[in-house]
Amino acid sequence: MPPEDLRSAAPRIAPTFADNVVAWQRSHGRSELPWQNTRDPYRVWLSEVMLQQTQVSTVLGYFARFLDRFPTVQALAGGTEDEVFALWSGLGYYSRARNMHRCAQEVLSRFGGEFPRTAAELQTLPGIGRSTAAAIAAFCFGERVAILDGNVKRVLSRVLGFDGDLASAAQERALWNEATELLPPASAPNAIGYYTQGLMDLGATVCLPRKPSCIICPVADVCEARKEGAPEKYPVKTRKLRRTAQSLWMLNARDSQGRVWLEKRPARGIWAGLYCLPVFESRTALLDELAPADRLSARDEAGFVHALTHKDLHLHPISVVCSEVHVATAGGWFDDREWPALGMPAPVRKLLSVV
Ligand code: SF4
Repeated sequence: MPPEDLRSAAPRIAPTFADNVVAWQRSHGRSELPWQNTRDPYRVWLSEVMLQQTQVSTVLGYFARFLDRFPTVQALAGGTEDEVFALWSGLGYYSRARNMHRCAQEVLSRFGGEFPRTAAELQTLPGIGRSTAAAIAAFCFGERVAILDGNVKRVLSRVLGFDGDLASAAQERALWNEATELLPPASAPNAIGYYTQGLMDLGATVCLPRKPSCIICPVADVCEARKEGAPEKYPVKTRKLRRTAQSLWMLNARDSQGRVWLEKRPARGIWAGLYCLPVFESRTALLDELAPADRLSARDEAGFVHALTHKDLHLHPISVVCSEVHVATAGGWFDDREWPALGMPAPVRKLLSVV
């Protein structure tokens, strides 16, 4: 017995699969998105990173603003982390922004300002995983290499009837191998871009997590999951994230001019590197931070829950008008024209916008 039961996507699907995906992409796929119709790896990389965990409709505005401020990888490398965070503010998952900034700097320092042209080399850059590297290499340099982001995992596991548990690294590797076998042949060098985009488009518009539109799907005739009549059973992934909860108290301190006190979070941990209201693990710890006179004017605001990937944060804002600078945490006062331009966690921005 092998150490792990690697469930093969046994029934080989018809060799017309890639052709069907390419033909469908050319006639029905998306073609007007601002990061399409370009072979500029900077734009493709930017869009790929922004689209991780984020809807296309949300990314559109961010993509335009980002390119406006940082039109090239050189410009991005020369910007400050604060500027990058500010432009990213609201997209969440700030490690993506931090890695993008580092990646741009490495493109300059290690590759002379040009993105490398192979998926293998692209993967050595910060924040570029196997699938993102493959997408850039396929779209920009025509490399015949497979992508496997969340949407594509869903499409391929359904088409293949791949019922291995993708929580297992070995099963995920097996699906990567299947994805590589399904690529258009090397004899059709121009197909890889359409094919890659086609799989992305199918996952985003047809083969949806719930109620996939099999009736209009271009690969329905070879799809194992459709034949079984249970597409939603795929992909199989058993490991469930255990959600936790945490309560935090946030000090919304204003000075006599109405400016708000913000501090820059440490480089590690929650909201790393972002500007934030001072955060405390208890109400007492927050109040202890204030001068006695300010403590008397402290007022509890309505609390709210902010959901992170693995955790619900129960946030309890406390407002206070400080007579003088009595906030002991390291930070600064920012007025209403200054703080909107800072990179800050979404719940803090929301709180400052309404309070
Ligand atoms: S036939 Fe249905 S389940 Fe299969 S790939 Fe198409 S949309 Fe997805």
